[in-house]
Amino acid sequence: MAVLDVLVVGGGPAGSTCARFLAKAGARVAVVDRAQFPRVKLCSGWLSTPIWDVLELSPYDYPGGRWEWRTCHVRYGGEDRAISCRGWFIRRFEFDDFLLRRSGAELHLGVTVGDIARDEDGLWSVAGLRARHLVGAGGTHCPVARLCSPTRPLGPVGVQEHEFRADPTAIARTRLGRDGEPELLLHDDLSGYSWNVPKTDWLNVGTGTADPREVRTAWQSARASFRAAGHLPADVEAELDATKGYSYYLYHPEHLRGAARVDGDGKGGAYLVGDSLGLAQPLTAEGILPAVVSGRLLAEAIAADAPASYPTRLAAHPVLADYQRVFRLRETATSLRRRYSRSSMDGPTAPANGFLARKSRHAVSAGFAWMFSGARFPAPRLVDLALDGADWWLGRRGQGNVSGGVT
Ligand SMILES: Cc1cc2nc3c(=O)[nH]c(=O)nc-3n(C[C@H](O)[C@H](O)[C@H](O)COP(=O)(O)OP(=O)(O)OC[C@H]3O[C@@H](n4cnc5c(N)ncnc54)[C@H](O)[C@@H]3O)c2cc1C
Repeated sequence: MAVLDVLVVGGGPAGSTCARFLAKAGARVAVVDRAQFPRVKLCSGWLSTPIWDVLELSPYDYPGGRWEWRTCHVRYGGEDRAISCRGWFIRRFEFDDFLLRRSGAELHLGVTVGDIARDEDGLWSVAGLRARHLVGAGGTHCPVARLCSPTRPLGPVGVQEHEFRADPTAIARTRLGRDGEPELLLHDDLSGYSWNVPKTDWLNVGTGTADPREVRTAWQSARASFRAAGHLPADVEAELDATKGYSYYLYHPEHLRGAARVDGDGKGGAYLVGDSLGLAQPLTAEGILPAVVSGRLLAEAIAADAPASYPTRLAAHPVLADYQRVFRLRETATSLRRRYSRSSMDGPTAPANGFLARKSRHAVSAGFAWMFSGARFPAPRLVDLALDGADWWLGRRGQGNVSGGVT
């Protein structure tokens, strides 16, 4: 049996991108996926703009359905705002199939990976294939992740979603803005959000919550809110009952430490990319962009004969570096909230309709829309300095230098 350079388990965006850049570099690479493609993947299909450069693909050359939007409709604290920013929607059913087919890798579809073994030559032996390097791209429950067992300091987030066909005229009549413009409902305590996305003759609705146990209740209340606002066609109740749930892990700096297990001589190893590592944006839970970024970075590290450099490349990439900042901002906000409420007994309640309260709600909505568009932090060094200062003031150990150790 011919020995592969790389075997990728999972043909989602992380696996197909990794395979594509390896194949481009001349590696012999195969992808194994338990599904036949095209396959349904629970996802609203929102892409932020940086993804096209990472994929080396112009959005206008992408042959599947795509919806470019320049306004995001955000409802928060009972106020609606239309915020200018830019992004895209696609349908995962088409997108993942397109990426996988164009990867140039050998495909083994409909094959579930269970046992993973290593033979006496140090080669991985999986589903009848043998390879030097093994890439885990199988999502939250990836079998390779079980092998690498990355630490998970925080639990997964819960998401409930459904994409379905509906009458395009009814969608056009009830949607909030233009075709493809997302309607986002930020939950009052900011522990999650819900969405309603018109895609011509498709609707995508759903809810995500930091605590997976809350997702069903949150979806029911979002559904009632979209319905009361008249933003859903009348005859889609049965479809709204058909949402399905899934969970995945948001970015945490500790995850990077489990990204690679490389042999001493660098000639083989096991690696995790995308959801199998847990890389989604810490607030918006955007997962496709970090999946393709990690897939590409790993491919480049292997192609450069430097697989051990993968975690460091990941931590240094601008997208992941920004996730680290968002992660630190969230941690800082949590610490400040705790300290503030301790020092003032019950904690003062902000005036619900005061000028400052309105301004802060606006800032939250605009910040979310800004993150949805994949915009980079302006002046990242200044942000890092401010976060270092906050860590010092709060007496916390600095969280700024995560390079992702190789185990
Ligand atoms: C409801 C929902 C909505 C979301 N919406 C968005 C969004 O709008 N935008 C965004 O950026 N992110 C979104 N995400 C997150 C995003 O879907 C994921 O982060 C992204 O799909 C990760 O890509 P991946 O390639 O790592 O994994 P996946 O896309 O999950 O691909 C993993 C592949 O591995 C295969 N596999 C798994 N186990 C095995 C096995 N044992 N053997 C063989 N094959 C196996 C699976 O069949 C699958 O094809 C959403 C997630 C959910 C749950």
